[in-house]
Amino acid sequence: MTKSVGVIGGGQLARMMIAPARALGIDIKVLAESEGSPAQAAATQVGDYKDLDTVLQFAKTVDVITFDHEHVPLHILEHLEAEGFVVEPSSKALRFAQNKLNMRDKLTQLGVPCPDWAKVSTAEELDAFIESHGGVAILKTPTGGYDGKGVKVVRSSADATDWLNGNSLLVEEKVNFVRELAQLSARNRSGEWSSWDLVETIQKDGVCAEVNSPAPNANFELASQIAKTIAEGLDVTGVLAIEMFETADGRLLVNELAMRPHNSGHFSIEGSVTSQFEQHIRAVSGMPLGDTSPLKSYSVMLNLLGPNDANDFGLVDRELDGASIHVYSKAPRVGRKMGHITAISNESLADARQIATRVFKGLQA
Ligand code: ADP
Repeated sequence: MTKSVGVIGGGQLARMMIAPARALGIDIKVLAESEGSPAQAAATQVGDYKDLDTVLQFAKTVDVITFDHEHVPLHILEHLEAEGFVVEPSSKALRFAQNKLNMRDKLTQLGVPCPDWAKVSTAEELDAFIESHGGVAILKTPTGGYDGKGVKVVRSSADATDWLNGNSLLVEEKVNFVRELAQLSARNRSGEWSSWDLVETIQKDGVCAEVNSPAPNANFELASQIAKTIAEGLDVTGVLAIEMFETADGRLLVNELAMRPHNSGHFSIEGSVTSQFEQHIRAVSGMPLGDTSPLKSYSVMLNLLGPNDANDFGLVDRELDGASIHVYSKAPRVGRKMGHITAISNESLADARQIATRVFKGLQA
């Protein structure tokens, strides 16, 4: 019986796991990078997640280790597992979320539809790929990217001289997508799997600005089939978020994976019987999964980005004019995710968006 869960990383995702974990009777502890992190309320240790001794010391205080981000070095996770600590998702699954080349390789083996891709490490290889894909491609660093950092559009290897330093890079066809979607699901330690409805994500300057649940007129069946194949094929435990591109001819191509709660699932706090944060805690601690049914038919979530989206983020989560405001307690920086607003409605997405937008604008006033 799992009594305590340790989350590595003290960001907003860890913060939003705290309340549901405690409600489930789980003692949640967080290894935060610094004092005053968003997950301060459960931060029992402050230290460097890249330091083996720090992580080992933390692991000794909990029954299961899980994550707020995917950046803990693989060798540290393998070391923990070899010493008998329980890590969920395991290092075997996480290696596919940590490295985009590993991920593309594995998904291709599983027959999951992805953009056309190749591993390149020289200017010649990159130019050959660009030439055979209409003169343009998307180049990605395999590790460490987030919010579009580590991704660039290239028309020739000359656009990437600073990246071509002998390391392997991922190059992909530039998909002419009509919209971006995300499929959230979760798998527990016994292999039980459950998904939420497919959502639409709308990005501004490479950062998610809005999430609509459910995605209007989308192929829910296909998206959830892809998610199940990935969750089982990669042996994922916990929440699995899959970012996808939808093409004009209705194909769904997998872009990215995250094996933890994800921005595209924040709507589920108010929008679903079981939120992604509760589900993650349930899944990694060996409990049965909760019900993912919507509480109202439509949810819209708007991200609050620093520093200008709201002058007054306030200090605590609150309800305002029919919407729910969540604040992460972070120092404001341009483009930084500072909080979010969710509104739910039984009428329409437009109605939910109107409620959320009114509150969003009120914060800016
Ligand atoms: P990150 O891990 O930094 O979030 P992503 O791989 O998700 O990077 O890419 C960031 C954004 O770049 C995507 O949301 C999408 O808009 C664009 N992008 C990524 N890959 C492709 C692609 N193959 N074709 C077209 N656009 C892409």
